[in-house]
Amino acid sequence: MRDYDHIAKVEKNGAILLGDETVADSFYKRLVRVVTHAHEDHIRGLKRSTKESMFIVATPVTHEFLKILGFMIPEQKIVRLDYNREIDIEKDKITLKASRHIAGSAQVIVESINGVSGYTGDFKMPGTEPLRDLDVLVLDATYGNLKYQRGWADWDALAALINIIEKYSGEKPIWIYGYNGKLQEIMIELRSRGIKNKYLADEKTIKMAKIASEFYNVPIGDVSLFNKKLVDAGTIVFMHAFKKRDFIKVEGIHVNLTGWEMRGIAVRIKDNLFNVSFSDHATFKEIIEYVKESRPKRVIIDGSRSNSAWYTAKYLSRVMNIDTKVEPENTLGW
Ligand SMILES: [Zn+2]
Repeated sequence: MRDYDHIAKVEKNGAILLGDETVADSFYKRLVRVVTHAHEDHIRGLKRSTKESMFIVATPVTHEFLKILGFMIPEQKIVRLDYNREIDIEKDKITLKASRHIAGSAQVIVESINGVSGYTGDFKMPGTEPLRDLDVLVLDATYGNLKYQRGWADWDALAALINIIEKYSGEKPIWIYGYNGKLQEIMIELRSRGIKNKYLADEKTIKMAKIASEFYNVPIGDVSLFNKKLVDAGTIVFMHAFKKRDFIKVEGIHVNLTGWEMRGIAVRIKDNLFNVSFSDHATFKEIIEYVKESRPKRVIIDGSRSNSAWYTAKYLSRVMNIDTKVEPENTLGW
């Protein structure tokens, strides 16, 4: 068997090393930094990468998001790479492939002299075409344990959210809390399902929503900058999850978007507060399905972003007989 140790590795800080020159989603001193998507846990160390790497590779939409999030990447370092386009940088040939997760999100393939490695980034199934013909696949396994297996899909969660909106928006404002990326997905998904309520959000959220709206080709509709005076029955306020504490006592129905709610699709936590179990990651069974279709020679599970990596690894190696390991190597539970 060939030694693939040199073409893919996950570092403690979540850096995904691919090929000879490339690192994705956290800092490592390499020529090329790839950003698979604009979620907080995938843009770690980007300021340092901007200083120490020569090129920052991401889809055009992700680069737009990064700018809105305040990253100042010099133009000569920005590589806007569309899906399915190859780019050669020194010893690596890099390709980004679409993933269903947030606007602009990508999987990465890097071909180098020692083999072909790929990284899923975050993904949902169905809707993400698995990477194929890889020697090594670095796999995200955020919900990689059967105990997190949801019995519903993200569109069921969306339907539950629409029920809440329709039930209460005649009498109260609706407050929706989530992270950057997820908020915009919901803003767009609601519009594409006919929700016409007025949206309020902060400037960053709106700018990102406009980019997502173009990406998905769904009009963003009536949206204004958040101002308490504009909050009325039927308005939907989109807030970053960090701000929930500040607003949770304000009049209205409050909705937390969280993939970690396993008890049901929409669980009433308090009189005016719901958890809606909307996840932007594949379930355990979907992760396995991905690997079955991908058929890489080896799988490395990202243990830096999941505490279930060991569970998925055991399943892949014992049940499916695939050469699998978890990295970083000291990941708990292995
Ligand atoms: Zn993500």
